[in-house]
Amino acid sequence: MTSAPSADFGTLPLSPATLANLQQLGYVSMTPIQAACLPPALLGQDLIAQAQTGSGKTAAFALALLANLNARRFAVQTLVLCPTRELADQVTTEIRRLARADDNIKVVTLCGGVPLRGQLATLEHGAHIVVGTPGRLMDHLERGSLQLDALNTLVLDEADRMLDMGFFDDIVKVAKQCPKERQTLLFSATYPEGIAQLAKQFMRDPLTVAVQAQHSSAQIEQRWYEVNDKERLHVVSQLLLHLRPASTIAFCNTKAQCRDLVAVLQAQGFSALALFGELEQRERDQVLVRFANRSCSVLVATDVAARGLDIASLAAVINVDVTPDPEVHIHRIGRTGRAGESGLALNLASLDEMGHVGKIEQLQGRESDWHPVSELTPASTKPLQPPMVTLHIQGGRKEKIRPGDVLGALTADLGYQREQVGKINVNDWSTYVAVDRAIAQQVASRLATTKIKGKSVKVRVLED
Ligand code: AMP
Repeated sequence: MTSAPSADFGTLPLSPATLANLQQLGYVSMTPIQAACLPPALLGQDLIAQAQTGSGKTAAFALALLANLNARRFAVQTLVLCPTRELADQVTTEIRRLARADDNIKVVTLCGGVPLRGQLATLEHGAHIVVGTPGRLMDHLERGSLQLDALNTLVLDEADRMLDMGFFDDIVKVAKQCPKERQTLLFSATYPEGIAQLAKQFMRDPLTVAVQAQHSSAQIEQRWYEVNDKERLHVVSQLLLHLRPASTIAFCNTKAQCRDLVAVLQAQGFSALALFGELEQRERDQVLVRFANRSCSVLVATDVAARGLDIASLAAVINVDVTPDPEVHIHRIGRTGRAGESGLALNLASLDEMGHVGKIEQLQGRESDWHPVSELTPASTKPLQPPMVTLHIQGGRKEKIRPGDVLGALTADLGYQREQVGKINVNDWSTYVAVDRAIAQQVASRLATTKIKGKSVKVRVLED
């Protein structure tokens, strides 16, 4: 970009109610991707935007699609295609937050892995915005349960990831069912060949928007350690004990490495959980809830599994294996040091991987800072434990449980302090609540003898 666009939301043609809502949400100024996308998007321009999770990309398209929306018209006016259910859920949440200023905008999520029947009933009640995964959206289009004739905005979020997952044909089919007169916004972290093909097939004169993928070196400190393959996993635990980061993602190149590392860390008493492609959706949800609510210290993940996660700033990222793709390295380390906080990226490399390290140095335009493994002495004899523990409550949204009901049972009924209770996640059939580690067992047994929403509940402590 030649000149930096103004970062003040007030320069955009948004309603006063929307501007007030942004202020309430604490969105003081636009992120670079928002500043680059919103002015043309609000003029109705098609966009191909290069943006990653954490860049504020969701608001970059959500504010544009909300501006195109007529709340009084009960028909689907926007469709957002996402690669995974998690991303679809995050996008839905963000759109709802941004739409708070407007009356009764209905946002519906349609993803696979969830019974169709409930979705059919929801659609019958009408929706303005549909967010979903391509396969399930195709199902609905084929059944006629989803009509797109009133659509004016089509969004493809993480388009590269959808292509990786083999959704090219489904995306084309969905796009063909949308009216020709519409705005199309495509977001992607990278530009594989398929993106240009998609754009050619169904975008009108798209404007390409990119903001620097590089992170400022001041924000993320990168340290490199030379290891051999035998000691590699053990060095991860040495790093954790030496630096004691509150929350860490450890990236591995393979699922097998993830499994091995989790086994090593758990055996040493760390609270570590693995996130890789083959987990069932329920297990994956549980892992993410536990990591986000501070009851798991280390998330061990493959790149594919970790893409699209919206996790607030992490204390550290550990690259257990060096990735052969230097762009992936930039994405990995970008998960720490967000939003102006400083971050730490710790990298392990064997002699065999020095070629990959060279490529990373070239892309970053700087040399690696090598540290000796011998400096990794434990900072304390205490184990590294997360501050919270997650309790699983059987029963969720379908039983009309809301976060306030759980908080009420814990504070008003059982007399715990608000500070002893952490994040509460209510899903369709289950609820997760983080509580202070010191009182977890006691809370679990006491909760099991009280009632939530007038009903007794089954409670389980989630341990590794
Ligand atoms: P995203 O890249 O869309 O996943 O957004 C990352 C996070 O940044 C989300 O939690 C948003 O709520 C938040 N966010 C988005 N835009 C802004 C902004 N302009 N100011 C502050 N926070 C923002």
